[in-house]
Amino acid sequence: MRVTTAFSRLVRLPGVWVKKVRFEPDRVIVEVGLRRKKLVCPECSYSTWARKDKRPADSVWRHLDLGVWALEIHCRRRRLWCPVHGALTEAVPFARAGAEFTRDFEWLVAWLAAKVDKTTLQRMLRIDWRTIGRIVKRVCDEELDPGRLDGLFEIGIDEVSWKRQHKYLTLVVDHLRRQVVWGCEGAGAAAADRFFAELDPEPASPSPAPNPPDQPPPYPDAKRPAVWPEPAIMVPFGPCPTVPAGHGIPGGWLELGVELEPGMFARAGLLDAVSMDMTGGYAKSVREHARQATICVDPYHVVQLANQALDEVRRDYWNELRRADDQQAAKRFKDARWCLLKRPEKLTDEQAATLARIKAAGGEVSRAYTLKEAVRGIFEPGLSLEDVEILLKRLLSRLARCRLKPFIRLGKTIRKHRDGILAAIRLGINQGRTEAINNKVRLIRSCG
Ligand SMILES: [Zn+2]
Repeated sequence: MRVTTAFSRLVRLPGVWVKKVRFEPDRVIVEVGLRRKKLVCPECSYSTWARKDKRPADSVWRHLDLGVWALEIHCRRRRLWCPVHGALTEAVPFARAGAEFTRDFEWLVAWLAAKVDKTTLQRMLRIDWRTIGRIVKRVCDEELDPGRLDGLFEIGIDEVSWKRQHKYLTLVVDHLRRQVVWGCEGAGAAAADRFFAELDPEPASPSPAPNPPDQPPPYPDAKRPAVWPEPAIMVPFGPCPTVPAGHGIPGGWLELGVELEPGMFARAGLLDAVSMDMTGGYAKSVREHARQATICVDPYHVVQLANQALDEVRRDYWNELRRADDQQAAKRFKDARWCLLKRPEKLTDEQAATLARIKAAGGEVSRAYTLKEAVRGIFEPGLSLEDVEILLKRLLSRLARCRLKPFIRLGKTIRKHRDGILAAIRLGINQGRTEAINNKVRLIRSCG
């Protein structure tokens, strides 16, 4: 077998033939030619026989490594004149427009980026993090499922922060498919508004209405038709295969001045439930754009607030110990943080012993811990809605009487969001965040 044939099989690139193979000290260079003779615009599907000129040098793409060898694809490309995009270098079937890597290589990067940490990926593929970011963006732009926002019924809107709460990202999860379907930088009502704007884009502005029949035709010489043509299709709104959005003719059954309820056709109108935190920003946007949807409070956020309250109590107590100059007690107590915040079933033996000591000592921290566990208790699996209603009522009265400021505040917040919390229990919205988002959060954090 000839070397070029062997390499043609090895690199398996679509639409090319291998002209020449060269070995250099640190890499293998495979020179290829395009099989197609027509030039294709990289931005659109326009193709032409007309060639503007030839690039003065080879274009280079990195392909999947060949054992210890880095593999480069070299190809001399031509330029074309696209009527829309102007003078451009022709597209190649094995790489995305503007990429310095082949499609296969970019696929590998995108797949690994979701699986391994930053350092591993950089060292394994010998590319820097910015390049990885650009590759992931290119792959996502091309592979994003255009139907991902269709058929959403139960969603969760949530924010994640990184860089010590300096940067926020809002993510939308489809609870039924357990997938993140949308995301943008920023948080609160503004971010949710952007989601709804993308869910139901404004229709394109309608083209000017055709001349009404009682006006003279635009050209005085033209003969006025005996019968004004009937509009072919009566469709008051898009999308429709033959009529673009906003181009329809109002249906005859509508009274003049009556507006169609946009919610009837909007994808936001399908939403049954939206789960979120208790800050109120997302709720405001949901009430505006999807009035019919039940607003649920993600149990995750309630438990998170309880943990924060507990941590506040713990910190106050620790500061008190230090002020009282009880160095030993302060030191012992410092390590207690994780024992208190972790789920009891996940504690190590040593942590469990620390926790037992804190409980035995009693006092504020011990009481705060019991309250935190009581909050977590209302979301235990297997409880009926009636059970939860009773537990919640008891919890609220306990929190109101507990004399620990952070927990009294927590009680007020829970009372305010009682309906949303119960709605989440009723609709069984619980695992969405932990399962779908946490992986993404890990990835985002590792991207720094
Ligand atoms: Zn073009």
